[in-house]
Amino acid sequence: MPNPPDTGSGSAGRDPADHLRAAVGRLRQWRRGDERAPHKPLLVLYALGRVARGDARLVAFADVEDDLAALLEEFGRPRSTQQPRYPFWRLQTDGIWEVEGAGRVVVDASGDPPVGQLRRCRGGFPADLWQQLRDDPDLVAELARTLLDAHFPPSAHDELLGRVDLAGLAATTRPARDPGFRLAVLRAYGYRCAVCGWDGALDRTPVALEAAHVRWHAAGGPERADNGLALCAVHHQALDRGALGIDDDRRIMVASAFHGGMAARHWLIRFAGLPLAQPQMDAELDDAHRAWHEREVFRDPPRSETPVAAESADDSR
Ligand SMILES: [Zn+2]
Repeated sequence: MPNPPDTGSGSAGRDPADHLRAAVGRLRQWRRGDERAPHKPLLVLYALGRVARGDARLVAFADVEDDLAALLEEFGRPRSTQQPRYPFWRLQTDGIWEVEGAGRVVVDASGDPPVGQLRRCRGGFPADLWQQLRDDPDLVAELARTLLDAHFPPSAHDELLGRVDLAGLAATTRPARDPGFRLAVLRAYGYRCAVCGWDGALDRTPVALEAAHVRWHAAGGPERADNGLALCAVHHQALDRGALGIDDDRRIMVASAFHGGMAARHWLIRFAGLPLAQPQMDAELDDAHRAWHEREVFRDPPRSETPVAAESADDSR
């Protein structure tokens, strides 16, 4: 049996589970206060999925580069260059990742390796941490939930877990939220979706109507009505995934990358350019939260077409 590689993680003598918990918890870092930093969390989620699948500890960067780029494209920041080599290399500094042969890699001025060199390297969790994760599926689940709650909106969790082969964890325990937020937001919008006017209810209980955070809770968005929108389930999901946005004139933006057939047109595309419903006084959307969403989540550019005078939009709003 070969000697275990020197991980350089400094985890020797410490409990591997606690070391992982602490390091994963520290990944919660927002640059310049509120800019999303999803690269490392996405790599760790991806790597946890490989552990759960029973894959080998180390994997060649060249073999995961496309998967990571796709995850960054879909769940990362819009308008930023998706560079999977950054987390694959930089996660080493967090003490939970190693790149085999890192010492032979010549880095550039910013400390990152040229992609051609990294493609010849393999990376993964250090051996002791990897063994701990293999032995303790509950720890894998716990770390995945920590990352989801800290970096992604709840409406995206199931989709993201499926993408990294952790779908078995789909029933995540979500942190208790302020029930007053939901009530204040739904009231402010008259229990109707601010985009389409959906107000379906069973007796007096709304169905598929939700109080959405515009600036995600995971990004420090407050539980206040001026950070909320009453949205139907479809439009909540579209907002959190960046298919739907709000411009600085409170008009609805639909990402030009969003597409679909007649139903997609009916449910979302036809609202592009229409004004968002006005809330009651005191619940006016705070522009700082709106701007955060436009910058960090919305998939620029918006569709430029002029709105269709949609028949059912008029009678439902
Ligand atoms: Zn709606």
